[in-house]
Amino acid sequence: MSPVTSPSLPGGVPGPIPTAEDLIAGIKAYYPGVDEALIRDAYAFSREKHGEQLRASGEPYYGHPVNVASILIGLHLDPASIVTALLHDTVEDTEVTLDDLRERFGEEVAFLVDGVTKLGKLELISARTQQGENLQKFVLAITKDVRVLLVKLADRLHNMQTLNFIPRKEKRERIARETAEIYAPLARRIGIQKICAELEDLSFRCLNPPAYVSITRRLQAQRERTSAEVGKMSRAISERVMAAGISARVFGREKRPFSIWRKLERQAITFDELADVYAFRIIVDNPEDCYRVLGLIHTTWRCVPERFRDFISVPKPNRYQSLHTTVIGPGNIKVELQIRTEEMDRIAEEGVAAHWRYKQGGYAYDTVAGGDPLEMLKPLLEILEFGGEPEDFLEHAKLEMFQDQVFAFTPKGKLISLPAGATALDFAYAVHTDIGDDCVGVKINGRERPLRTSLNNGDSVDIIRGGVPGPPHGWEGMVVTGRARSAIRRLIREVERQEFEKLGRAFVDRLLRREGLKGTVVLREARKRLGLKTNKELYGQVGRGQLRTDKLMDALFPGRADQGAEHINQRELISDETARYYIKGNGIKANAPLHLAQCCSPLPGDRIVGVRVSGKGIIVHTIDCELLADYENNEDDLIDLSWTPQAGTQSASIGRILATVVHQPGALAEIADAVGRSKGNIMDVRSMTRSPDFFDMSFDVEVLGARHLSHIVAAMRACSCVVSAHRARASSPTEGQSHEHK
Ligand code: MN
Repeated sequence: MSPVTSPSLPGGVPGPIPTAEDLIAGIKAYYPGVDEALIRDAYAFSREKHGEQLRASGEPYYGHPVNVASILIGLHLDPASIVTALLHDTVEDTEVTLDDLRERFGEEVAFLVDGVTKLGKLELISARTQQGENLQKFVLAITKDVRVLLVKLADRLHNMQTLNFIPRKEKRERIARETAEIYAPLARRIGIQKICAELEDLSFRCLNPPAYVSITRRLQAQRERTSAEVGKMSRAISERVMAAGISARVFGREKRPFSIWRKLERQAITFDELADVYAFRIIVDNPEDCYRVLGLIHTTWRCVPERFRDFISVPKPNRYQSLHTTVIGPGNIKVELQIRTEEMDRIAEEGVAAHWRYKQGGYAYDTVAGGDPLEMLKPLLEILEFGGEPEDFLEHAKLEMFQDQVFAFTPKGKLISLPAGATALDFAYAVHTDIGDDCVGVKINGRERPLRTSLNNGDSVDIIRGGVPGPPHGWEGMVVTGRARSAIRRLIREVERQEFEKLGRAFVDRLLRREGLKGTVVLREARKRLGLKTNKELYGQVGRGQLRTDKLMDALFPGRADQGAEHINQRELISDETARYYIKGNGIKANAPLHLAQCCSPLPGDRIVGVRVSGKGIIVHTIDCELLADYENNEDDLIDLSWTPQAGTQSASIGRILATVVHQPGALAEIADAVGRSKGNIMDVRSMTRSPDFFDMSFDVEVLGARHLSHIVAAMRACSCVVSAHRARASSPTEGQSHEHK
C-alpha cells in the first residue's frame, strides 16, 4: 500500500537514520558530561544484533531504536534512558539475553529494558478480562520507574509515525486504538503534551481518515483566510506588551485536528465557531510578568470572565502552570491567550520529562522541582490496590485517565484535585477512603448539599461523617472517579459479606441445634472437608446459597447417604408429622409420566388439574393457572387430579417467594429467622434488582405444601423490613422443579 502523507505530520517517508555522533551531539547540547563511549557502544551493539532485520517500511531495523532514542533526546532525558531506547527491542527480537545486557551495560539499563520488553508483550486491546489483567500488569510495570513509560511512549510514537507501512489494516487499527485509549491518555497524565498530541493525531488519522482529512483541509483553508488578521492581532499584543517594557514572545497556536474533533464530538458547537477563535501564547521571563501582561490585555480588550483561569496560583496536579484568558479582540473576534514563563511552557509541553537536569555528580531527575515523578500515576495504582475484577479495573482506570480536572478545598485549605464532573462523594473518597465510607452528608461553601452535587473549581467542601448504614448501592451512580467507584464496590462487597455471614450463621446454628450437636469441633471438621479456611467463609457460602444444605449435611455427617440414614436428610429439618404426597386422578394411566408445570409450580395443597400432552405425558397445573385457558376447547385432554397423603414417608417441595425488602442492616437475618420459625428451609436466595432504598429478592424455600408456603409468606410479611411478599407465579421457573411422579 502507498503511505498517506499529510502536510502537518511526519511519517510519510522514513528520513535518514541518525548516526551515533548525531545522538551524542544531541545529548551534549544539554548534558556535556555524557559518557560518549557508552552511547557509541549501545548504538553499535543494537545495530549489530538487529543485523539484517528490516522494518515494514523497508529500512534497516536498527533505525527504529535509534529514532526512539532521538525522541528521548528531544526530551533531554538521561543517558540510561537513551541507552535503553537503543537496546529496547534486542531481548525481544534477537538472541540477546537480559544477562548479556546486565554484564555489558549494567543493572539499571537491564532493569529498564526488562520493563519495556514486558510492556511490549501485553496486548491492551483484546477480550475484556484479558485486557483488564494486562492493563493491571502494565500499570504495575510503569509505576516501578517512570522511565520505562517514557521509553515505551517514545517507542509507540515512532511506531505510530511509521504506522502506514504496516500492510494489514486490522493491525494498524488495533495499534491505533491502543494508542488512543491507553498511551495518549497516559502521556497526558504525566504531562507530556507534545507526545500526547502527536499520538492522538496519528491514531485519529488511522482510525477515522475521512474526518481527519476534512478537518486538516478546513484548518488549512482557515489558516490562509485569517493569516492577515492573526498577524495584526499578534503585532497589537506585542506592541502593547513592549510599550510597557516587558520582554515577551508572542506566537499563534496551531490547532490540532484531534482536539478540534473531540470538541465537535463533545460540545454542541460547529467547526466555524471553534475555528473562529484565535489562539495565542505569550511567553515572558518571570511569573510577575505573566500577571502584568494579563493586566495590559484586560485593560485593552474586554475579557470573557467565565473563561479566565489562574493555573499559576493553583497549578494542575500534573504541575501545569499558565494563565488562560479569552478577550473580545478587534472586529468582535474571540482571542484565547495563554500567558506563561519559559519554564512553565516547558513543563506544559514535556511534563515529567521537563525535570531531568544536570546536577552535581551527574544528570538526573530533580525531585525538588519535579516532586515524585510517579505522582500522577498513583490513582491508577490505588485502583489496583482496591482489588476487584480486572474488568472493573479497566473501566475505572479508563475513567481515571480520560478526564479533565476540577479543584476543591478541605475545610483546612488542603487542595484536592478531581476529574471534571466529580461530586462531593468523590471528594470524600479522595480525602480518605474511611471518610468516603462513612460520610452521610456534605457542606459545600458552608451550605448543606446532597452528596451527588458536582463540584466547581474553588469549592470548599466539608464532609459530615456518621457511620456505615448498609451497603450503599445507590452510591456508585453518584461518583465519577475510579478511586471512589472501586472503594464503593469494595464497601458494598464487605457489608454484604457481613450480612450473608450473619444469615449463614443463624442457619448453621439452627441446623446444629436441631441435630443436637455442639458447634465448634463438628464445624471445624466439616469445614476441612469442604476445603474452607474459616467459619466465616462457611457462613458466607451458606448465607449466599452457594453451599446447599445437602452438601453441608454431607460434610457434617460424612457417609450419611451410605448408611441410608434418611432421617438426617435435610427434609428432616422441617419434619413433624408430615406425609409424602402423591397425585391421584381417574385419567392417569399406570406409567404415564407426571410433571409439575413450571409456570405455576403446584405445591401439595393446591387445587390441581392435569393436561395430557402427547409425547410428554401429563403436566400438572394449579387450577388458577392462566395457561389452562388454552385448553378450554379440548376438555378431553384435561384430567381432574388431587394430592394423596401417604403416611410414613416424608417429602418437601421447593416454593419460590418474591419479596421487596427495605435496605437496612440485619434485614436478611430477620427474614431468615422468620422463615426458620415457620419451619421453612431457605435453599437459595437471590437479589434481583436494586435501588438505594429497596431490593427485590427471591427466596427458594423448602416447604411441605401450599399451605405451608402461605404460612411462610405471611411470616415474612410480618417482618418490619419486608415491604411485600408473595408466592412466585408463572415467571422464572426454578430448576429441578419438574419432578417425575409415578
Ligand atoms: Mn520498539
